[in-house]
Amino acid sequence: MGKISRNNLPVNLNLNVRGLIQSSTLAINEKSQELIKKGYQVYKFGLGQSPFPVPEPVVEALRQNAHQKDYLNVRGLLQLREAIAGFNLRTQKIETRPEDILIGPGSKELIFILQLVYYGDLIIPTPSWVSYFPQARIIGRHVHWVPTRADEGYRLTPEKLDMICRSDPNRPRVVILNYPSNPTGCSYPIDKLKQLAMVARKYNIVLVSDEIYGMIHHQGQHVSIARYYPEGTIISSGLSKWCGAGGWRLGTFIFPKELYWLRDAMAIVASETYTSTSAPIQYAAVTAFEGGEFIDDYLDKSRRILRYLAKMLRNQLESSNISVPMPNGGFYLFPDFSYYREKLAAKGILTSMEMCDVILRETGVAMLPGIDFGHQPEELLARMAYVDFDGRNALESVSGFYADKKLTEDFIRQDCPNLWFGVQKLIDWFKAL
Ligand code: PMP
Ligand code: GLU
Repeated sequence: MGKISRNNLPVNLNLNVRGLIQSSTLAINEKSQELIKKGYQVYKFGLGQSPFPVPEPVVEALRQNAHQKDYLNVRGLLQLREAIAGFNLRTQKIETRPEDILIGPGSKELIFILQLVYYGDLIIPTPSWVSYFPQARIIGRHVHWVPTRADEGYRLTPEKLDMICRSDPNRPRVVILNYPSNPTGCSYPIDKLKQLAMVARKYNIVLVSDEIYGMIHHQGQHVSIARYYPEGTIISSGLSKWCGAGGWRLGTFIFPKELYWLRDAMAIVASETYTSTSAPIQYAAVTAFEGGEFIDDYLDKSRRILRYLAKMLRNQLESSNISVPMPNGGFYLFPDFSYYREKLAAKGILTSMEMCDVILRETGVAMLPGIDFGHQPEELLARMAYVDFDGRNALESVSGFYADKKLTEDFIRQDCPNLWFGVQKLIDWFKAL
């Protein structure tokens, strides 16, 4: 017999949803907040959200548009789509028309709806962001995980992609390529993008290029694969990461003409579900995408801070035998703790999940285990989002004291103490095993 709910109604969940639990990124955040409320010191390397404030002109635009009360066009405000087209041309040298663009309440929702309307397998490299797989499972799509190698920077290789497609070349497939990557921060060199594009073209793959961290490539050198496979690439992005606005919930999909049938199908689902994205947020986003000196300066400074933090924190970990691929962008590190495998096993810790649980309990360092990103349970990997600092304060420091000085360890100790001391705590814990 099935379960009975509190009001005696039988619990009849759709089989695709049964057994799923809350998304790990949100769960670790809630768990960390609870521990903090109880008085524990927590170093929040769990949830990945921008530490920086939304740029002031964009916040001001939101204030000015609080009165916008009407439902908007399901595909998004035209003025915003024009601004995004301009942004795309300036930053990526990609010609985009307003009609190529679909605005949604977060790119997460758009990725879900795409999987809903497109009939085909989902191919995702491991490791990859926590939500692609559960979304596919909710919809009932077949997922093909493609393991990648640490010594290749956890990048999907063109050869592997070709191998998967070769056996059934005409099968409909969606590949999600996310770079700079969540959870590794790694990006792709241009020659690899070109080779991946050739394989995608050979098999008519629908390529979702998740470039949500593109604008926070640490050198400002993000290149979209849409340049090399324009006819089959959907660029997924939004305001959440580069504009510090995760909670505003605004995501964007950019389609080539050849995939307008997908855009239209998605718009139908959107019209029957979320209707349109919040009007004041869309009006405010126009200011963000129109850009200008203020935004350029904000991005330069954000990148400078993230680049420095990645380098310093990675050095700390590596000098304690914890290997970490060097990130090219975003705000994640993906350390491998397998050097300590035997000592962990002696304590009864055999999986990444057990390791992260014990570390949180014994040190207050909150991380997400590698299993959440598609790795095997026994691979001793975890993701650290290095965002637990006051971004406003850090931006002020690099505009003031550090404006023409190199960033030093003092910057991390003073402006990002939870990152510095959190990593020290973690290292001390492993050394004491
Ligand atoms: N893709 C990746 C790789 C992410 O890390 C996130 C996290 N928010 C998203 C998509 C979804 O972002 P949003 O819904 O805020 O646009
Ligand atoms: N993308 C962020 C992360 O990976 C959090 C937001 C989310 O998962 O929706 O931590």
